Amino acid sequence: MSEHVRPASAGAEDRRLGTWAPRRPTPPIVGGEGCELIAENGDRYLDLTAGYGVCCLGYNHPAIVDAIKRQAERLTFCPLNVSSAVRAEYVEALVAILPAKLDRVFLCNSGTEAVEGALKFAALATGRSRTVALRSSFHGRTLGALAMTWNPAARRPYDGLLHDAVFVQPEAEAVDQAVSGETAAVVLEPVQGEGGVNVLGDDVLLATRRACDRHGALLILDEVQTGFGRCGRWFAHQYTPGLEPDLVAMAKGIGGGFPLGAIAYGSRVAEALRPGSHGSTYGGNPLACAVGLAVIETLERLDLPARAATIGARFVESLRSRFASNPRVREVRGRGLMIGVVLRERAGRHIARLATEHRVLALPAGPNVVRLLPPLIVTDEELERGAEAIQDVLGGE
Ligand SMILES: *Cc1c(COP(=O)(O)O)cnc(C)c1O
Repeated sequence: MSEHVRPASAGAEDRRLGTWAPRRPTPPIVGGEGCELIAENGDRYLDLTAGYGVCCLGYNHPAIVDAIKRQAERLTFCPLNVSSAVRAEYVEALVAILPAKLDRVFLCNSGTEAVEGALKFAALATGRSRTVALRSSFHGRTLGALAMTWNPAARRPYDGLLHDAVFVQPEAEAVDQAVSGETAAVVLEPVQGEGGVNVLGDDVLLATRRACDRHGALLILDEVQTGFGRCGRWFAHQYTPGLEPDLVAMAKGIGGGFPLGAIAYGSRVAEALRPGSHGSTYGGNPLACAVGLAVIETLERLDLPARAATIGARFVESLRSRFASNPRVREVRGRGLMIGVVLRERAGRHIARLATEHRVLALPAGPNVVRLLPPLIVTDEELERGAEAIQDVLGGE
């Protein structure tokens, strides 16, 4: 482990962060390696959440560390009115992994910005502002993305203060009926993350596409959590044959732990955009692009999307047999390495917290789901170690 600056005392952190201070089940974290976070006292925490799904290559992956070091010595910021070599290289690499019809990208710094930008683009391209979103959705925290977010904990405090969104059940008929000639876009996650690891069926996705086509609306896919190999393909929507989105919002795994986001779009949106339609000062900065390149190269070199499909399917089977006779577990579901252990009680948050005391990090999703988003480099042994901790917690109540 490299040298580090001693963190400020926990008390000071509480005061400074106010409401956002962590309820602290761990000693201060000072390092990371592979799938583990390392505390000041040397304790190691197996992070089966990859830091909210961000660290797809785990912590301190040499490819990312090297990319940051090399780029930091060269150039960390480059104004947008001149051409940047690393940005040009990154954009080519990004477009190469995107579905063929999405051949343009806008670079930003986070997931909520990617969703926000996609909503703006859809409004410009259609001249409309109404948007359809799904129940149990989560799209981010800025005003537009929050308006599309069902999650009551995030949106309720702002009810009545936001842009109008129509929320419908994730069912083909419900979406079909909600889309009209006034709809700018339907926005959805192919697998709902925060909402409970809900895998949307091909029927819902294809019916949404058809409804959008019929009414001239755009289909925005939020692949912030599901993208970049998480679900066993580069993008989760690639499981649905023939599904072609107009816009895809990306973040989290795209930067492997570095702030980076992107919007991919095709010709219909491109025709509506003019210089100045949108912008971001930090979007596409050289450090982010160097890291983004390292992420794509490493995912490709190690074939990690395909590995996520194999290792994830094996782990889901193993969890199903482990919990088959556990009365507290209703089912195990997921796609690739985006996995939900569905409980029969509203205890997702509680169980995730208890797991931390066993030095395993998991996330709640919805009220009753324990969500696992392990780094794509995770081993079978690490997954089983995590499953054992969750079983201990569930059994030991
Ligand atoms: C995390 C998340 C976001 C928001 O991303 P931020 O980088 O936190 O702004 C948006 N959509 C989905 C599906 C997410 O999981």
